[in-house]
Amino acid sequence: MPITKTEARRLIRRSGLAEDKFCYIGDDGIRRLLNNEETKACVFLATNSSDKFAPGICTVYDGRPYGCQSYPYVLDESDKAVLDDLCPHTAEFDAAEEEHAIKLLELEEKLKQ
Ligand code: SF4
Repeated sequence: MPITKTEARRLIRRSGLAEDKFCYIGDDGIRRLLNNEETKACVFLATNSSDKFAPGICTVYDGRPYGCQSYPYVLDESDKAVLDDLCPHTAEFDAAEEEHAIKLLELEEKLKQ
């Protein structure tokens, strides 16, 4: 999950972890949350199974990044908002609208800062 510099700072305050314990900066300069080596899930997800349907709780829910808040809405190659095929719960969400695309494009700009 990509996160902004501001969101990383908020997660440092919230979790007490150093930034390199929960995210990395890729070759594209964008920060992304790390996955736990054992569960293969986000380091902030409290779960003890690597099963993608295993129950889990976000330990930073109130301060979770915007990309988490807006998921499973994502942008496709043409910057149109769609529901992510990888999410097993898309049937529970309304179809993506232009408003989703605008907010996700705004997030993309912030990720590069
Ligand atoms: S909602 Fe929480 S557990 Fe899920 S990816 Fe975001 S920070 Fe990680």
